[in-house]
Amino acid sequence: MVTSGADVTLPLAAVCLHYGQAIFEGLKGFEHPDGTVHVFRPRDNAGRFRRSALKLAMEPVPEELFLEGVFLAVRNNRRFVPECGAGGSLYIRPVEIGVSAELGLKPSREYLFAVFVVPVGSYFAGRGVPVRLLVREDLDRAAPQGIGDVKAAANYAASLRGTVDAKARGYTEVLYTDARTKRFLDESGASNLFAVRGATLITPASPSILPGITRLCVQQLARDMGLLVEDRPVSVDELPSFDEVGLSGTAAGIIPVHSITYREEEIVFGDRAAAPITTRLSAMLTAIQRGEAADAYGWCEAVPGT
Ligand code: PLP
Repeated sequence: MVTSGADVTLPLAAVCLHYGQAIFEGLKGFEHPDGTVHVFRPRDNAGRFRRSALKLAMEPVPEELFLEGVFLAVRNNRRFVPECGAGGSLYIRPVEIGVSAELGLKPSREYLFAVFVVPVGSYFAGRGVPVRLLVREDLDRAAPQGIGDVKAAANYAASLRGTVDAKARGYTEVLYTDARTKRFLDESGASNLFAVRGATLITPASPSILPGITRLCVQQLARDMGLLVEDRPVSVDELPSFDEVGLSGTAAGIIPVHSITYREEEIVFGDRAAAPITTRLSAMLTAIQRGEAADAYGWCEAVPGT
């Protein structure tokens, strides 16, 4: 059954409210110069949505149904897709929750899969404001053998207090280290980290980070630029040696990090002008997403009927 509307009614004993069976995805749709709307790498999101569901003992949504829901939401809201060239996009949020009423601790018997969309500009309000990250060794977002590598609502609940505190202290976000040793960089609250040293682009490998789809793009586009790509654990001790540090994510895009504060010391990487590789990666990605550059890897999928 397909329904529409922004509200859902749930039993107070719904599993998602008590035992946290709630997962989501985030992807974007763009108007191309010919007026059609394309969604960026939706099959990758479908795969991650499936992995999230399995990890939380939920019913996985088949890829075809996921795509149908995404395309339907975009098509029905075609008028809200920002115009090509205006810099915005349509953010698409698929969500799945366990809706059965259960008091005993067990998986839900029924699930709700829904998709809603919102026209957006960029995530970090006022692009151009320097991104300053704060390493918090006293806070963990996710455990190595937990659920940090899937898009479970619980991970965001775990990170909220850190984000609120960081913002209150003038930082953009928290940068998490690995929960076990605190020696290795993980990721930020809602985006992955990468670093550039000379002609090498480095992405922190970790079992507790969300494997970002933008991160995959960063790695591929860096290779296309002729950089060597290393995906490996990255020690906090390496921070001062980086020429550039950047964040990647669907909402954030690819943006340079101005500084990282670690144990009271602010390590400054510079501003946008001093981050030539990050800036170039961002321009390459945006051009592909907006249909202004060749889509060599078939990342853009046309929404039928737009
Ligand atoms: N890490 C976290 C915790 C996120 O919430 C996100 C955003 O979805 C990312 C990384 C980046 O993932 P993606 O590039 O697939 O948007």
